[in-house]
Amino acid sequence: MKYYNELIFELSRKGRTGYSLPVNRFPAAEGLPEGLCRQSAPELPEVSEPDVVRHYTNLSQMNFGVDTGFYPLGSCTMKYNPKINEEIAAMPSFAGLHPLMHAGLTKGALEVYKGLNRALAEITGMYTFTFDPCAGAHGELTGLMIMRQYHMQRGDYGRRKVIVPDSAHGTNPASAAVCGLEVVEVKSLPDGRVDVDALKELLDDTVAGMMMTNPNTLGLFENRIGEIASLVHKCGGLMYYDGANMNPLMGVVRPGDMGFDIMHLNLHKTFSTPHGGGGPGSGPVGVAKKLEDCLGEIRVSGFHGNFGVILRAYAYILMLGRQNLAKVGEYSVLAANYVKECLKDVYKLPIDGPCKHEFVFDGLLDDGAREGVPGATTLDVAKRLLDYGFHAPTIYFPLLFHQALMIEPTETESKETLDRFIEVMRKIAAEAASDPAMLHDAPHSTPVSRPDETAAARNPILRYVMS
Ligand SMILES: *Cc1c(COP(=O)(O)O)cnc(C)c1O
Repeated sequence: MKYYNELIFELSRKGRTGYSLPVNRFPAAEGLPEGLCRQSAPELPEVSEPDVVRHYTNLSQMNFGVDTGFYPLGSCTMKYNPKINEEIAAMPSFAGLHPLMHAGLTKGALEVYKGLNRALAEITGMYTFTFDPCAGAHGELTGLMIMRQYHMQRGDYGRRKVIVPDSAHGTNPASAAVCGLEVVEVKSLPDGRVDVDALKELLDDTVAGMMMTNPNTLGLFENRIGEIASLVHKCGGLMYYDGANMNPLMGVVRPGDMGFDIMHLNLHKTFSTPHGGGGPGSGPVGVAKKLEDCLGEIRVSGFHGNFGVILRAYAYILMLGRQNLAKVGEYSVLAANYVKECLKDVYKLPIDGPCKHEFVFDGLLDDGAREGVPGATTLDVAKRLLDYGFHAPTIYFPLLFHQALMIEPTETESKETLDRFIEVMRKIAAEAASDPAMLHDAPHSTPVSRPDETAAARNPILRYVMS
């Protein structure tokens, strides 16, 4: 692959243009304050239209996207999103709406909210949803505010603790803290599931509720969920479900039936909105019937969330229909188990057994370490995958394992793609065993090899300075 690294300013040639404007027939404005007038022309790149098109098209290809390759990013569900949903979201009749328009002119949009509310309620077993939150974490905060409101309304002011398993997504304890609640961690057993005996020790009248995701972050189904929910309910707490990753459950199991009272979904993960680069998102929050009033009192955004994302989700659900939604669950679980079984003789699988939509390896079985040469790490494997045209899985998360590699293939990949990924992962394992030093420098074929990720995030260079 050829990469073009010239910056657009370096392509600039004096007097070259990519446009022609009509002759200006208006006189220059007079009387503008001196200080507000520009003294010299702005320094903009002077380039032709083909230069601009090639420049930005090439830039777009320097990044990795699900439209160019397999992207097995655990806990993030980077599945293929059907293009028709983009077309629907871009239709002028939807894209041109303004939230302050008269209700009589926005009946179609209201119908979308109503229809999606009904569909999500049915998929999850909740009673009703709010579409205000604009991300998963925003939904968690909203849900916890509802939880707090519920206890306050009952005059139950002493409930400040939220129980979170040690395998939880980092946003769970963070949202509870932001909501002013106290986070209490409950340990997992060696089999990766919540230690119910340890949980019992924590339950008293200071508990506001428990946050869980099921299947949990290790991709394992919490098979004692019924018991856990009834223990938390018995002590007066509520059950919060982190439904960011609804793929494995869709059409098969419902959080409402597992005993959860409040939940959020990530429409941008499960329901067909591309979400690399951090947005836009939508984290609708659903509640059981007894919490309907509390939901009505919480407002977390100016209007009604990210309508474009909501629209894509509704189109996606209607297009799949009931039967095909259930296949999302089945296929995503099948794909994850297939990849796991085909790789577990070369990668360390700390918790064996059937998984749901994702699973976690703890690095390589043979990392090639020997005298003077450190072994290949999870980071090395992740970087090497780029040389073979695959995005890395999620790495070093969850924190339960030191070399975590979290793989989520999703339901949208063909067996051929999965087989090719398996082949490459095995090849990398063999490379690690024979030549780990080569992996320390990977990737070898990308325009940027290994940036200092902390510096890149803390000190981004966003401005071109003319030399
Ligand atoms: C992605 C994710 C979140 C957070 O969602 P954002 O939209 O990134 O805020 C929360 N929980 C789990 C399990 C997730 O995978």
